[in-house]
Amino acid sequence: MEKVKKEKQPGLLDKIVSLTKRRGFVFQGSEIYGGFAGTYDWGPLGVALRRNVVEQWTHSMQMHDNIALLDSSIFTAAKVWEASGHVTGFSDPLVVCNACHTKFRADHLLEVIGVVADEKMTEARINEVFDENRPKLHCPVCGKKDFGRVTAKSLLATSTLGKFEEEDKEVYLRGETAQGIFINYKNVLDSGFYSIPFGIAQVGKAFRNEISPRQFLFRKREFEQMEMQYFVSPEEAPVAYEEWRKERMAYYETLGIKEGKLRWKQHENLVFYAKDAWDIQYEYPFGWSELEGVHYRGDYDLGQHQKFSGVDLSFYDEDTKRRYIPHVIETSVGVDRTILMLLVDAYDEDEMNGEKRVILRFKPNMAPVKAAVFPLLKNKSELVAKAREIYTNLKKEIPQIMWDDNGNIGKRYRRQDEIGTPYCITVDFDTLENDSVTVRDRDSGEQERISIQELNSFLSDKIKAS
Ligand code: ATP
Repeated sequence: MEKVKKEKQPGLLDKIVSLTKRRGFVFQGSEIYGGFAGTYDWGPLGVALRRNVVEQWTHSMQMHDNIALLDSSIFTAAKVWEASGHVTGFSDPLVVCNACHTKFRADHLLEVIGVVADEKMTEARINEVFDENRPKLHCPVCGKKDFGRVTAKSLLATSTLGKFEEEDKEVYLRGETAQGIFINYKNVLDSGFYSIPFGIAQVGKAFRNEISPRQFLFRKREFEQMEMQYFVSPEEAPVAYEEWRKERMAYYETLGIKEGKLRWKQHENLVFYAKDAWDIQYEYPFGWSELEGVHYRGDYDLGQHQKFSGVDLSFYDEDTKRRYIPHVIETSVGVDRTILMLLVDAYDEDEMNGEKRVILRFKPNMAPVKAAVFPLLKNKSELVAKAREIYTNLKKEIPQIMWDDNGNIGKRYRRQDEIGTPYCITVDFDTLENDSVTVRDRDSGEQERISIQELNSFLSDKIKAS
C-alpha cells in the first residue's frame, strides 16, 4: 500500500500514531506477528473514546421519536449482496505499476492530477478516463509512467460456513451495515410502533477488502459504521433530505470540531440509483476527505430486495389510500474516521509554566478520561486513603475516572494532558482539614478549590455543558 495524497500538515499523523500507541488508544492489528494491514486493535483509552462517539451518535438519533435501533448480523445470506448490487458492482479500480509492482486505486491517482473519477464508475469507463490521462500519470513510488490496465477488484470479504466441509457455502461478511437495515425494514414496521416516515439506526462492524488500507484509521479493512436509513414517501423525501443534511452538519458542533474544518462536497458522478449524494468532508492532515455520506437513494434498495426475495416491501398509506415503496435517505459515518478526526482536531502542543506539553483538547463529553484523582504524596497514608475514598465515590457516578499517584504532580498533569483529561483533582493536606480539593483545568492550567461534596455535580455539569 502506498500513500497517494501528500500530507498537508507533515508529521502530524505520525505524532498521533505514536501518541495513541504509547498511551494505549490504538495498536496495529496482530502487531507481534508483524502487523496485519488494514486492522487496528483498540486499547483501554481507545475503547472509552469509541464508546463516547457511539453514545453521542446514538443519542442524537434517539432525540427523534421516530428512529428505531437495530443490531443485525455480520454474516448475511449471499442473496442480500446479489440484490443490493454489491456482488457485481462493489469494487475498487485497481491499477498496478508495471515497473515497481505497487498497487494503487486508479481513482486516487487521477484525483492527484485533478481528474474526478468515481470509484463507482464501470471498469470500461474508468479505463477510458485513465487512458486519456496516461501521459500525465506517473507512479508516486518509482516515478515511472508505466501502469497496466485498470481492473475492478471486489471489496466484499468472504468466509465459509456450513455443517460439513463439503456443504460449506461462501458467505459474505457485510460490506456495510445498511443492508441489514433494508432487510429488516418490514420487521420493524410490522412491530407496530413505527409508520412512514421513520428511520432505523444501527452501529456495527463492516468489512471491505480495500486495495490500499492507508492513513491510519481512515481506511481500514475492518471498521465500524453508524448508519441511519430514513424511510419516507417519495413526495416528502426531498424536504426530509434537506433537513437531514442540516442536522448532520450541526451534529458535529456537539463533538467540538473546530470551525472551518468541515465542508460539504456533492458527488459529481452519481451512482445510477442515487438521486443526490453529498459527503461531509473533514480536513485531515492528508487533505479534505470523506467523513460522512448523506445520500438520497430513492426506492432502489427496497425495490431490489422486493424483487430478489419475492416479499412485498411496499407500504400502504391509510390516509392517502396509496401503496408505494418508501424512498430512503441515508446518513452513514465511520466510527474510526470520527475518532481520527477527533484526534487530529484535538492535538496541540503548547508551553505551560515554561514547560512544553502535548495536549489533546477533547471536549469533556468526548474525553476518554473525565478526571484523574491524585494524592499529593504517594507515601502519606492519610492522603492516599482520602484520595481513594474520593476516587471510589466519584467512580460510582462517573466511571471514566483515573487514579494516578506516579511521579511528581507536574508529571502527572503532563500525562493527563496528553490523553485529554479535562480535570485533575489533587488531594492535599488542606483536604484533610476542610474537605476540599484542587481541581485543575487542562486548557487554562488554572486551579480552583471545590468542596468534596460538590465535586460530583461540578464534574457532571462540566461534562453535560460541553
Ligand atoms: P471512500 O470513498 O473513502 O472509500 P465510501 O464512499 O466507500 O468511502 P461509504 O460506502 O459511503 O464510503 O461508507 C460510509 C462511511 O463509512 C464513510 O463515510 C466512512 O466514514 C466509513 N468508511 C467507509 N469505508 C471505510 C474504511 N475502509 N475504513 C474506515 N471507514 C470507512
